[in-house]
Order: sequence, then structure tokens, then C-alpha cells
Amino acid sequence: MCVGGTTVGWVKEEASSEEGAPEGGVWHVVGKDIQADKDATSYGYGARVLSGGAMWGPECGPEVAGWRRGLDLAGWASEIRGIEKQVRSEQGERDTAHLHKMVRWTQVCWYLGLVLACASRVSVAGVLLLSTATFVQWTMIGHHVIHGGYSKLDKSGKYKRGVFAFGNVAKRLHDWSDWMRPEAWDVEHNHLHHYQLGEENDPDLVERNMHSVRSADVGLFWKYLIVLFFACTWKWTYYAPNTTKALYKTRKMTEFKKRGISPDSAEAQKGLTFSLEDGDAYTIFQAVEDAARGRFGGLYEISSVMLPYAVWHFGIMPAMTLAAGFPAETFYNCLTNLLIAEVLTNVHAFLVIAGNHVGDDCYRFSTPVAPKSDEFLLRAVIGSVNFPTGGDVNDMLHGFLNYQIEHHLWSDLSMVSYQKAAPLVREVCAKYGVPYVQQTVWQRVPKTVGCMVGTKSMKLWERGD
Ligand SMILES: [Zn+2]
Repeated sequence: MCVGGTTVGWVKEEASSEEGAPEGGVWHVVGKDIQADKDATSYGYGARVLSGGAMWGPECGPEVAGWRRGLDLAGWASEIRGIEKQVRSEQGERDTAHLHKMVRWTQVCWYLGLVLACASRVSVAGVLLLSTATFVQWTMIGHHVIHGGYSKLDKSGKYKRGVFAFGNVAKRLHDWSDWMRPEAWDVEHNHLHHYQLGEENDPDLVERNMHSVRSADVGLFWKYLIVLFFACTWKWTYYAPNTTKALYKTRKMTEFKKRGISPDSAEAQKGLTFSLEDGDAYTIFQAVEDAARGRFGGLYEISSVMLPYAVWHFGIMPAMTLAAGFPAETFYNCLTNLLIAEVLTNVHAFLVIAGNHVGDDCYRFSTPVAPKSDEFLLRAVIGSVNFPTGGDVNDMLHGFLNYQIEHHLWSDLSMVSYQKAAPLVREVCAKYGVPYVQQTVWQRVPKTVGCMVGTKSMKLWERGD
């Protein structure tokens, strides 16, 4: 299998089995030739990459990692597909009942948290419940439903991809009230992240997004401080702006494709709100910087996504206590606890989500891969990290993102299916010698932070790691 000389061009995600993809599919520019991949050097990897030859199996050269030289990829992938077939065939009413149970647990956390939040100025239990409810509403419910995990299973039609949380602002705030626009999340996460995992075009590639921090000529203390700041705020400083940009970029790319013009042409570049170039993540600070230079488009787009949530969550909701006749103290209690919970839920999500695909034992990739191919499945495993799995309470506290390996193998399964599949996938990986990383969140934190500040670097598939 040759890794050099890939063709630069348009690629359509036709192999995606997920429902509700934007009309015409999602289009990306892919195929940067690895030999010209400047990031392979600028991110501290060194210039040495494999120039061709076998990437796995007995024909590999000695520079390729031992587990890859002994790998029977086709055999492994066949057994992995067998697991998918089995768990998919078992999906049914039990899976839907489990979703409804998880929704009820989330609602109990939310409403109990609100009551406790209103009762005292700082309620530890109230903050924990509100923070957890906000976290799981995203990772456990919004995430899996928008992947289509329940589109065919849920007969009510509420938890259907393209229906749930999509549409107007009221629908969004009712179904999945958060900083991000669900449609933007769908593009950024379901398409760009899942189908380009760990690649240059993966919007969540931590090393690329943090590359200005990694390469900054400042002391480690300041780098840790930057990471801490983003951990406490990343949903509105990073995720909401970056998903908004991803939606914008994808729509523009699709439009240019339909019009038959190159995204680099002067015609395409005219009047763009966001640059279509890949690079560091688009944060709120870039939007403010653009506005200071007289370009208000980014700030306007981002504000239109974030303001409805901010006004609802920190304005209207606490103000409802006043409308209901409670004293001003109740309003301030509620608002204070919501603000503390906001910081906590950011940190919680950061610890679990940011650490899912990073670490010096986790792979990143410089070349694209065909969706659903054997290598795609392999990359899902070696480019992801699991946390301890099993038990609804444990899984809920991890937002069911502790099954990240299985989730990247098959993004549209139910949460129960991930619980069933994980031990089977782990067993098959052990049988074929495929690395299957599973550690606690706390074991992963130093690895994640190390890759963010530049003291650690990820493995690179094309280098033979
Ligand atoms: Zn996902």
C-alpha cells in the first residue's frame, strides 16, 4: 500500500450510512501529499516518513512497528464486522427503553439541581447535578441521537436524526440546550471528525489546534495556564465558534462544487466570512480579532449561535424565579449556581472529550482513508482511547464517551450496543495484536495536556510508529 502521491481533489462521503446528511453530501478538499506535508515537520515529528511500501503485514520494512508487521488486517476487520452484525441485529425495544431511562436520569439531575440551586447561594450538590445534566445532554443524548443511533429504533420520531434539536431556536433550546448549534455540530462532528479522524482535516485534532501553544516560546507554566483557561471555557471559546465555522465552510464547499468553481479562485474567495484554510481552530478570540480589523462576519455568525443560549440559560431561566414570585435572593442563588456549573461542565467535558483521541500512545494520520474500509476500522481503534466501561452510572458519568473506540467503529449504534460490543472488540484486538488503549480519565490527563503544551507528541501512522 503506497502512502505517497495522493491526488488532491474533491471527495464525497458516499459511504456514510448515516441518515440526514446535507443534500448533495459533504464535500472536502483532501489529499495533501504526505511528502509535502509541512505539518509533519512543523509539529515536531521530524521529516522522516515512509515513502511507500507496505503499511502492515509481513512485507513491511523494519522501520514499521512490530504489531503492524504481524497484523492480519483483513482477518481482524472481518471479525470486527461480525461484531457489528451481531450487536446491530440485537437492537430493539430494550435500546429505546434504555435511551428513555437515560433521558429521565438527565431530567432528574437537571430539575433537582435547579431546585437546590435556587435554595442556597452556593449549592455543591446543585452545581454537580446541573453540570452533569448539561454534560450528558450533550454527550449522551444529543450526540448519539444526532448520529442517528435511535432514528430507526425510536417509534415516537422525537429522537430521529435531522428532527431532534434541528430547526428553529426554540426547538434547539428545548431538545438540546447548549452553546453549539446542533446543525453545526452535525457537520463538524459527525462528518468532518468521524470520517477524517486524526487527519489534517479533523477539526478536533488537538495537536494541530494547539500547535501555536505547543510551539510558543514561553515557559511551561504559561502553557499550562492557557490549557486551564480553555478547559474552563472551551465550549464557548472553542467549540461553538469552531463548529459554526465548520458548518459555514462545508456549505460553501458544497456551493462551490455545485457551481463548478475552485475554492481557491478569486470568485470563491470574494466576500467569505471565514477563511476556508485549515489551521488553528477558530476561537472566539479570532472572531474578536477579525472584528477589530473591521471584519464583523465571524463575530456576527458566532453571536447568532451563542447569544440565544446565553440569554436563555443565564437570563430568562433564573428570571423565571422572579416571575413566579420568589424574592431576588432566589434569582441570585440560581444565577450563581448556574455560572459555577457552567465552569464545571466545561471542565468535565474537556477531561472526557479532549482526551478521547490524544496521547503519545494514540495515532494521528497524514493521509486520508476510504470510509468503512479495513484501514478505516483500524484507524478508529488506534486513533481513539476508551475509559473504564460498564454500568449505566459509570457510563453516564463518562457521557458514554468511554466507548470511544467502538463509537468510532460504528457511530450510529445505540448506547446499549456499545456496552455489548466493547468486550468483544477488546478481545478481537488482543487476538490480532491491535493496540486497544483503555485507561482512566485521570491516567489520560497528563498525556492529553502533554500533547497540548508540546512535551509529548502523538504517534504518526505514516511514519511507521
Ligand atoms: Zn461521535
